[in-house]
Amino acid sequence: MADLTTTLIHHPYTPPQGFAAPQPGVFKASTVIFPNVAAMRHAEWKDKSAYTYGLHGTPTTYTLEERLCTLEGARDCMLVPSGLAAIALVAMSLLKSGDEMLIPDNAYGPSKALAEGELKAWGISHRYYDPMNPSDLAAMITPQTRLVWLEAAGSVTLEFPDLCELVRVCQARGVLTALDNTWGAGLAFAPYDLTPGHTPRLAVDVCAHALTKYPSGGGDVLMGSVSTCDEALALKLKLTHMRLGYGVGANDAESILHGLPSMALRYRAHDETTRTLARWCLTRPEFAQVLHPVLENSPGHAHWRALCNNGLGGAAGLFSVILAPQYTQHQVDAFCDALTLFKLGYSWGGPMSLVVPYDLASMRKTWPNHLKAGTLVRFSIGLEAAADLQLDLAQALDKALA
Ligand SMILES: *Cc1c(COP(=O)(O)O)cnc(C)c1O
Repeated sequence: MADLTTTLIHHPYTPPQGFAAPQPGVFKASTVIFPNVAAMRHAEWKDKSAYTYGLHGTPTTYTLEERLCTLEGARDCMLVPSGLAAIALVAMSLLKSGDEMLIPDNAYGPSKALAEGELKAWGISHRYYDPMNPSDLAAMITPQTRLVWLEAAGSVTLEFPDLCELVRVCQARGVLTALDNTWGAGLAFAPYDLTPGHTPRLAVDVCAHALTKYPSGGGDVLMGSVSTCDEALALKLKLTHMRLGYGVGANDAESILHGLPSMALRYRAHDETTRTLARWCLTRPEFAQVLHPVLENSPGHAHWRALCNNGLGGAAGLFSVILAPQYTQHQVDAFCDALTLFKLGYSWGGPMSLVVPYDLASMRKTWPNHLKAGTLVRFSIGLEAAADLQLDLAQALDKALA
């Protein structure tokens, strides 16, 4: 009989098979144990036929990846520690020194920072294109252009591009497309089937998704995913993922698995309240412009209607306003400070409504023609009652801008 110290580690008990519950189990591992040397030599993680090491997958991460494939309509999926890490993985895997990538001028800010920092230092160049003008994109593609980033709707300013046309432009020139799918989340439209019923399918090549937002839904987990339908691209991405040592915690993966079953219902609730509030903001004289793709006068509304109303439907819980130009930065800040239900904070997709004032001039190459002059404030709508949020907006406007 071995010492108790040893027995507590090498315990002989095996629980019975066949335990079933609505929520999958949480498996934690760095080490994975093999039954024999032959199994150790032949275990293959790349096709998920076995487990080799915690970083390369566990039943918990394989399950989450499989469900995210279902959500986005992808074949393969990889988990990374944040949405930004997903964007970084795509670039680091698919680009090399001398390559160029094109980024929409309204892209998620930290994605631009990555291009301007590390990627540039590694000899990967970038330029910004006007996402509302597919011929601008077409004119910018050169033999060095290897990857074009897409976002629908755009971060902060929420223009909805002609996604299908942008993808067609890239396909015609043999350039890979990567979509930041955080806004659509697999629910507003199908990124791998942009023109349902048509063959061949019109699809992006890769999606990066900040699971931090809607899949989590709690405002308490950071995670990202990279997905694709292309087998060769998947292998390339998986090898980079493995070599970079990207992994996620089992408890965090479980949190996302916990959020997924309610995601579509939450997304619809965020969407409905957001439309109500955006329409109410249209009636307020303090706002020079309200930016939300479902509004007829919002940039790209027709593209949103064609892609989202036609397909799965929906719009996320974000909208922005541009305050009339007579208001000073100080007054706009006072308006944000006067809100009580809306909290000052980054991110979105959680239960609590959030507000952020942005300095748009510092974020764009040029001030786009379709945006009015003034200070921009972005709202992320949570799951509170629309009437309460509207009262909060009204009292803050009266208090700060009267
Ligand atoms: C939040 C966000 C990201 C990054 O996600 P993190 O998990 O916060 O790193 C990427 N893209 C978009 C559009 C986002 O909103």
